[in-house]
Amino acid sequence: MHIAVLAGDGIGQEIMVEALRVLGAMDLPDLCLDHADVGGAAYHKHGHPLPPETLELVEAADAVLFGAVGDPSCDNLERHLRPEQAVLGLRKEMETFANLRPAKMFAGMEDASGLKPEIARTIDIVIVRELNGDVYFGEKGMRKTADGLREGYDVMSYDESEVRRIGHVAFKTAMGRGKRLCSVDKANVLETSQLWRDVMIELSAEYPEVELSHMYVDNAAMQLVREPKQFDVVVTGNMFGDILSDAAAMLTGSIGMLPSASLAEDGSGMYEPCHGSAPDIAGEGSANPLATILSVAMMLRYTLNVPDAADAIEAAVSRVLDQGLRTPDIFSEGCTPASTVEMGDAVVEELVAAMAS
Ligand code: NAD
Repeated sequence: MHIAVLAGDGIGQEIMVEALRVLGAMDLPDLCLDHADVGGAAYHKHGHPLPPETLELVEAADAVLFGAVGDPSCDNLERHLRPEQAVLGLRKEMETFANLRPAKMFAGMEDASGLKPEIARTIDIVIVRELNGDVYFGEKGMRKTADGLREGYDVMSYDESEVRRIGHVAFKTAMGRGKRLCSVDKANVLETSQLWRDVMIELSAEYPEVELSHMYVDNAAMQLVREPKQFDVVVTGNMFGDILSDAAAMLTGSIGMLPSASLAEDGSGMYEPCHGSAPDIAGEGSANPLATILSVAMMLRYTLNVPDAADAIEAAVSRVLDQGLRTPDIFSEGCTPASTVEMGDAVVEELVAAMAS
């Protein structure tokens, strides 16, 4: 298995070091790590945020482990040369269509959530969002109405193959978890959603063990905050998923804890923390590496197919948090302060201890 490691800018460099130490501690056979530049670092070295040598490496890789991009010194460049364009370029290159964002509350982290601790404690959800279709990619434009008023329009559409493709990912994700799938749509008013719902129901015949339910998106937003434990896996379209996955993720607290996976049809994927390059703390050694470490766990589960190794990393993170170790972004009174490296050390130690026992 080839993994393209793209650390990027700012804290991307620091958190990637820790993520790779954790991956190394797993001692998995047949892993080949290839490093390349991306973002501002790539622009300064090669004149482009996603240079051909990086693309070549990504093309040959089974998975991309991505840190973060964003460099204030590039803020005045033409748009196509800005570091953030690399993310879009990678998604296009890899043809990723399924975005998986877990929202899980780790024991002892309840205070970081805006929800009451007894509700926050129960959060363990994966949101599966379609990435390549919907209103973001439909016909769009500005026109004049018959009355001469300016009118903006964006066409929402999905064809059934697109829904089926993301549906399979969601049902399989549910099979690997609690076997409950909630499909979120707006079928009471949108034809696109009616097709979405029909296809999900058709697909459910292939996954008889999964309990499929449906929910309108407005209710889903409310239920996520009211009683998140009712959700196991949620599948939804691009726009609804954009909004719900951010809301669900933040129920658990800090952005430094949120991993993500973007999967392609051939099983390859891009794995990255949800946060950016955090220039305000870059170089301080205080960034939380856990989102990237948990992204490694997702990579092991979804592309490398070693779910036991993924479970081991998640359990090690859980134990470290339970012991009260905290980087500044998740620190609360009574906890033990930790730097980026100390947090990485602790996860590695837990992993090694678990493997030895
Ligand atoms: P950001 O996510 O980088 O930072 C937002 C806030 O969260 C900051 O206060 C930062 O210190 C904090 N933070 C983020 N990650 C953290 C971590 N691991 N540990 C501790 N604290 C953390 O968002 P921003 O400040 O809006 O953007 C900074 C740059 O990152 C911009 O150039 C933006 O375009 C880019 N960006 C890149 C990605 C990506 O690479 N996928 C995503 C979002 C933003």
